Amino acid sequence: MTSPWNGRLLEGKDLAPYTWFRVGGPAARLATPYDEAALSQLLREATGPVLAIGVGSNLLVRDGGIEGTVIRLGRGFNGIEVEGNRIRAGSAALDAKVAVAAADAGIAGLEFLRGVPGTIGGAVRMNAGCYGVETKDRLIEARVALRDGAIQTFSNVELGFAYRHCALADDAVVIEAIFEGAPDDPSAIRERMETLMANREAAQPIREKTGGSTFRNPAGESAWKLVDAAGGRGLRVGGAQMSEKHCNFMVNTGDATAADLETLGETIRDRVRETSGHDLHWEIKRIGKA
Ligand SMILES: Cc1cc2nc3c(=O)[nH]c(=O)nc-3n(C[C@H](O)[C@H](O)[C@H](O)COP(=O)(O)OP(=O)(O)OC[C@H]3O[C@@H](n4cnc5c(N)ncnc54)[C@H](O)[C@@H]3O)c2cc1C
Repeated sequence: MTSPWNGRLLEGKDLAPYTWFRVGGPAARLATPYDEAALSQLLREATGPVLAIGVGSNLLVRDGGIEGTVIRLGRGFNGIEVEGNRIRAGSAALDAKVAVAAADAGIAGLEFLRGVPGTIGGAVRMNAGCYGVETKDRLIEARVALRDGAIQTFSNVELGFAYRHCALADDAVVIEAIFEGAPDDPSAIRERMETLMANREAAQPIREKTGGSTFRNPAGESAWKLVDAAGGRGLRVGGAQMSEKHCNFMVNTGDATAADLETLGETIRDRVRETSGHDLHWEIKRIGKA
C-alpha cells in the first residue's frame, strides 16, 4: 500500500480465529481499513483477488489458506443510526446489535436479525434470514465498494436477492445498509426477540464451533430431514460431526481440520443423493485452497 494508509495490513495471518468453526489456513494479506477512503485505496491498489469477510459465521476456510487479500471491516464501519422507521447500519455491525437498536427505537420487523450471529455485510451477501423473514424483506438499499474502489448505492432490486444469495460481484464490499421497519412498542418487540432466541437455543447448537446450516433447503424440502433420513445425524469424520441437536449443522468437536469438515459435508451429500435422489447444495461458503 502506498502511504499514508489508514488501516492495518497483516501478512500470512491465520484465519481460524476469525471464523466460528475455528479452522482454516492463513490469508496472504489480512487488511483492516479504518474508513471508507482507506477501503477504496486498498481496492484500487491491491493486486490479485480480494474478499471481504464478516465474523466468519458462514465460512469454511480451507487448510491451505487464501491467496490474495482478505478484508475484514471493523471500527469505522460498525455505526448504527436510527432515522424514523429506518436503521442505517455499518456492514461490520453485528446483526444482533442492529436488532436490539431497532427494538429500543420501537422499530418492528428486524427481530429476525437477533438470531443471526453475523454482521450486516454478511447478512446482505447471504440474504440471511430466519423464521420466515429475510434481509431482502427489510432492506431499502446498500452502499457498496467495487473492486476498482468506486462506491455505489444499490437498491433492493438491484441487489438481485434470492434464497441465501445476492447478485453482487464476489469481490464487492458492502459498506452499509438501510433497513425499514414499522412502529411498535419496544417491549412487545423485545418479547418476540426473546421467544425467537429461546426457540433457537432449543433447536440449534448455537454455542458450538459451527457454521449454521450446512446445506440450503431444496425447494419444498428441509435439508435436515434429508440428512436425517440418510443417517447423517451424529456422523463423524475426524473432529467434524453432524450435530446431534440439529443435523444440518456441522460442528468442530475440538480438533477438526477444514478438510474433516468438508469431507463430512461431501459424504453427507453422497448419502443424501443415494437415499433420496436430492442434490444438496452447500450454504456454507467454502473458500481458499485445500
Ligand atoms: C449458530 C449459527 C446460526 C446461524 N443461523 C442462521 C440463520 O438463522 N439464518 C441465516 O441466514 N444464517 C444463519 N447462520 C449463518 C450466518 O450467520 C449468516 O450467513 C451470516 O449472514 C454471515 O455473516 P458473517 O458476517 O459471519 O459473514 P461471513 O461468514 O464472514 O461471510 C459470509 C459471506 O458473506 C461475505 N461477506 C461478509 N461480509 C461482507 C461484506 N462486508 N461485503 C461483502 N461480502 C461480505 C463473505 O465473503 C462470505 O461470502 C448461522 C450461523 C451460525 C454459526
